[in-house]
Amino acid sequence: MAPSASPAAVTIPVSEAFLSVQGEGRRTGVASYFIRVSGCNLRCGWCDTPYASWAPEGAPAAVEGLVHAARASGAPDAVITGGEPMLFDTVEPLSRALADAGLRVTIETAGTIAREPCAPGGDRGLACGLMSISPKLSNSTPSPGDGRDPGGAWRSRHEQRRINLGALRDLIGWYPRRQLKFVVTSASDLDEIEALLGRLPPVPPEEVILMPEGVTPPAPGSTAWVVEACLRRGWRYGHRLHIDLFGNRRGT
Ligand code: SF4
Repeated sequence: MAPSASPAAVTIPVSEAFLSVQGEGRRTGVASYFIRVSGCNLRCGWCDTPYASWAPEGAPAAVEGLVHAARASGAPDAVITGGEPMLFDTVEPLSRALADAGLRVTIETAGTIAREPCAPGGDRGLACGLMSISPKLSNSTPSPGDGRDPGGAWRSRHEQRRINLGALRDLIGWYPRRQLKFVVTSASDLDEIEALLGRLPPVPPEEVILMPEGVTPPAPGSTAWVVEACLRRGWRYGHRLHIDLFGNRRGT
């Protein structure tokens, strides 16, 4: 399929699409139409959308229908998330069609695959108002006893793939409107984040977001170390608004 093919003929695998408020990052609270692409090249142990990674569900959906639904939702933002949207060539025409329809597009990726931005008036590449990059730390690697990965094949594949410095450098360089979101589980993650940032092009500290792992609201005081880390470095604390508003439910 040529990237410039008509949206009517272009499809992308989707596990769910819905209207909600953005729960994470710089666009938190903005009404957004979410398109969750199904399929991922990683297998995070704590993945909160296993129906788009460990056991991908859904079917190919036409870009034209997705854009129509996004526009009809009335939301100003569209969020292409996953799974890993960058796996699929058709994320490019999808993003362009959403932007052409007047939506501000966020792309949520783990940053293991880079795709170039669309030149003005171009018919290739991504239209992206916010590149939301979430590099996966070692805390994401599935444990040896994970029953979803009896032989450990995914554990080793995940570990090999989770950081792609070339892709991260390209994404940071190509997309001036971006954020780096890190899911953190313990203070030892901080050294890992600093080591990674030291190997990447410099980003303003407020573009670095620490998000405590979990699918329930954190207990008071339990994230004091994250707050402290953000205060010391100028990083941003990443709340999960959708968990507060809706709990850990699909379609929110
Ligand atoms: S990259 Fe995202 S979708 Fe893929 S396994 Fe990790 S958390 Fe799940």
